[in-house]
Amino acid sequence: MTKPRFLAEKIDAPAPRAGEQVIDYSIPADDEVKTTTCYMCACRCGIKVHLKDGQIRYIEGNRDHPVNKGVLCAKGSAGIMTQQSPAKLTKPLKRVGERGAGEFVEIEWEEALAIATDRLAKIRATDPKRLAFFTGRDQSQALTGWWASKFGTPNFAAHGGFCSVNMAAAGLYSLGGAFWEFGEPDWERTKYFLMFGVAEDHDSNPIKIGLGQLKSRPSDNPAKFVSVNPIRTGYSAIADEWLGIKPGTDGLFVLSLIHELLRNDKIDLDFLVRYTNAPWLVINAPDTEEHGLIYRNQEGDPLCLDRNTGTFVDAMQPGIRPHLVGPVSLPDGRPARTVLDLLVSRYLDDAYAPDRVAPQIGIPAETIRRIAAELADVAFEQTIEIKTPWTDWAGRRHESFIGRPVSMHAMRGVSAHSNGFQTCRAIHVLQMLLGSIDCPGGWRYKPPFPKVPGSGPTPSPMVGPNQPLTGMPLGFPQGPKDLLVDTLGQPLRIDKAYSWEAPLALHGLMHMVIHNAWKGDPYTIDTLFLYMANMAWNSSMNTAGTMDMLKDKNPATGEYRIPFIIYSDAYYSETVAFADLVLPDTTYLERWDCISLLDRPISHADAAGDAIRQPIIKPDRDVRAFQDVLLDLGTRLKLPGMVSEDGSALYPGGLRDYILKHERKPGIGMLSGFRGDGTEEGRGKPNPDQLDRYIANGCFHKMVIPENARFNRFGNLDYLKWATARGLIDNPDPMVLQLYSEPMRRFQLAAEGFGDRQPANEHDAARIRAFADPLPIWYPPFGEAETDDGFPLHALTQRPMHMYHSWGTQNVWLRQLQARNPLFVHHTTAAELDLTDGDWVWIESAHGKVKAEVKLMDGVHPGTVWTWNAIGKRKGAWNLVPQAPEAKSGFLLNHVISELLPPREDGYRYTNSDPITGQAAWFDLKIKLRKCSVEEFGMTEPSFAAQPQRGPTPERTVRYGAPLKKGAAE
Ligand code: SF4
Repeated sequence: MTKPRFLAEKIDAPAPRAGEQVIDYSIPADDEVKTTTCYMCACRCGIKVHLKDGQIRYIEGNRDHPVNKGVLCAKGSAGIMTQQSPAKLTKPLKRVGERGAGEFVEIEWEEALAIATDRLAKIRATDPKRLAFFTGRDQSQALTGWWASKFGTPNFAAHGGFCSVNMAAAGLYSLGGAFWEFGEPDWERTKYFLMFGVAEDHDSNPIKIGLGQLKSRPSDNPAKFVSVNPIRTGYSAIADEWLGIKPGTDGLFVLSLIHELLRNDKIDLDFLVRYTNAPWLVINAPDTEEHGLIYRNQEGDPLCLDRNTGTFVDAMQPGIRPHLVGPVSLPDGRPARTVLDLLVSRYLDDAYAPDRVAPQIGIPAETIRRIAAELADVAFEQTIEIKTPWTDWAGRRHESFIGRPVSMHAMRGVSAHSNGFQTCRAIHVLQMLLGSIDCPGGWRYKPPFPKVPGSGPTPSPMVGPNQPLTGMPLGFPQGPKDLLVDTLGQPLRIDKAYSWEAPLALHGLMHMVIHNAWKGDPYTIDTLFLYMANMAWNSSMNTAGTMDMLKDKNPATGEYRIPFIIYSDAYYSETVAFADLVLPDTTYLERWDCISLLDRPISHADAAGDAIRQPIIKPDRDVRAFQDVLLDLGTRLKLPGMVSEDGSALYPGGLRDYILKHERKPGIGMLSGFRGDGTEEGRGKPNPDQLDRYIANGCFHKMVIPENARFNRFGNLDYLKWATARGLIDNPDPMVLQLYSEPMRRFQLAAEGFGDRQPANEHDAARIRAFADPLPIWYPPFGEAETDDGFPLHALTQRPMHMYHSWGTQNVWLRQLQARNPLFVHHTTAAELDLTDGDWVWIESAHGKVKAEVKLMDGVHPGTVWTWNAIGKRKGAWNLVPQAPEAKSGFLLNHVISELLPPREDGYRYTNSDPITGQAAWFDLKIKLRKCSVEEFGMTEPSFAAQPQRGPTPERTVRYGAPLKKGAAE
């Protein structure tokens, strides 16, 4: 739909003076403007696409949009060249050569869909779990997960397992929310912002806008920004204080801060008593099946000891004065201690004293003490008051919101370690002790969060042939009973998610699917169905090995060990070459998409929001939107929920129809805005005009939270009622933040030998006992412990602001910013190794080696080297010429990262992942450097046979828009 240009955007020029030449600065460069949502990274900014004669002229940020408020980054504006990419796939492909060779014939859609339908129908009729359906960075998991559930396979997940599930799981189980999509700093009011290890493209524009706000504060209202990161680039480069921490030790740093706060009695006791499980009683009965569990009444409600009455009462009862410190004797005679008592005694231990911790983390003890003092000073001496009356969950009226203006944010830097889950939990405990959760100036939830911590449906196992799952494949285990393991304790999922190896694998372990399917551990599969995940290159550990597994055949049968691979992508990525059937997707500017509150929405702290993408231009190729194809396949397979009783399609118009008509629960659909007659939000009947209303509104909708409902939402009755009315939560019950995680303790109890579901072997049991601690712990990352001998340096990757994974390096504008990636080494480390700028080195790990050019810098922890991720390319992939710099001097650190840990005594190898969530431990890597001889300079290794180029030969000089300019002159 064409949207008229707003006259208000024009700026009146002053009248010309006599004899002055008049220059019109506002010659329209377009004849049409359409709004949609950017997809050059995962931030979901609102954009306006300007078109002339139906072609994209330029892209600008949408000033009305809640995510970016008009800000557009380099990637976003370069979307025009991703649309023009010569790597776009043009037609369905069927493999004719050997896997990996990239030899295909083009086929018609009907044939492609018939091949897929035939294969999938046989799997569903026999053993649905033999379909492994995994998607990458797509933003339609509410659809894809639902599709997998209707198909009946539990083997579904998206990319979170190799991205940041540690952060998500820790947040959801502790706070009922998490960083990034589920929460944000109160940028406007915060006075102290502590950031841990954030990739520069995560939450990109919102963080840049927020940091801009902090850095431009007036001198009478300053804010301090402290960045904890081994590397000082991007956000860290503008921090007021950079703490170049040793990788993998953030958790120890945080627990030392907690030690200092406790030692100086600087915690928000009132907040802890009102809103957390601090006063709950933990049963202290060693060698019994309830040791470490919460003391509860018959109804299962947690109890505490009321100091007013000396009785054990419902901990949720208002008006009580709970006992907090010191041993308690329960009515049945068993001893107990409060959560707070356990927490204090643990973290006051000398093991967390700054002087003990400092040498391990590379930050001086006096700095740890000073940061703790600064946090306490801002939280408790610089409080904020917003004089808005509100009502708490017990019906008590409060005259204002009190803010403790310390905010925090963390992402992959802490998440991508094998101790990442517990580190993220430690950060949340720090936030809770400071009382800076969802308060003015603190970290605040984004709706639909908060939710009851750790709550939600449990993961669903397979039912049987031709049967859907009873729920969704992914969910929230509460203990051993919810694991997806068989009677012998063996995993039921191909990636071993929700097994004893990764009990809280909320996002699956996509990085293990190819290895496990190849090995037949725990079983073989028939078809690997991937969408938008470059698993044959930068999204896999052990890239060369992964390519071999995809190509490997059973010598007895001559068949591929992974029998069939279906892949959908818009571009000719490295993974395309390994597919048997390629379903070409559209670009983000050619299709409908739904950024739903059921998924990862565009909310901000003051409003719940969702958005759409609309087709801006028609594809000029024979491609189809993957979501449409998925629904088409569902219809052909006659999956429940996708066909009516007579077998006809329920959503013949594909995703557009699904967005409009599908209801997840009565009244709750994919989009929350303009429901029913167009005036209802959150809940309401499907509205056939809903998408038109979204388009007229800039392709987004937001439900603004009333002012009395904007803070303390876990216990704010005004919010709880508002959110319930809109279907964001099921009921207005208060939520209790979890310092102590009882689900974790249930796993530990099983590992100690209690209950009817126990780990299959002592190795698994020992891991659970050690790492599933209900209070945060720190332990050295596995990689460090395993390879300490001879590999002295840590090696990390970062993603630059101007690229998003492998998508950026097909974009001719972005390639001009970066087409190769050196290895960055600290000057002093380089001097010790006789390295200088331009030298080449072998980067060697226990797993393998890769060759790269060296670049020296100061802004990095001396014991750490790093590079940009996903710049290096396989020759010929993405339709780049084989001699492209990305293939010659760009390299992947993935080559030296193993997907497996070294073997245990019986030969079994655990995944290189967090032992609780299964998050890929990319950043545990330890390496050594060896200088190359001069003859070895100039070309990265390992190098692989070129993928045949596919598509138009890339132009050496791109002059996009020249004809448009010419047309304007005519
Ligand atoms: S931050 Fe991401 S979503 Fe936003 S404009 Fe940039 S690329 Fe697009």
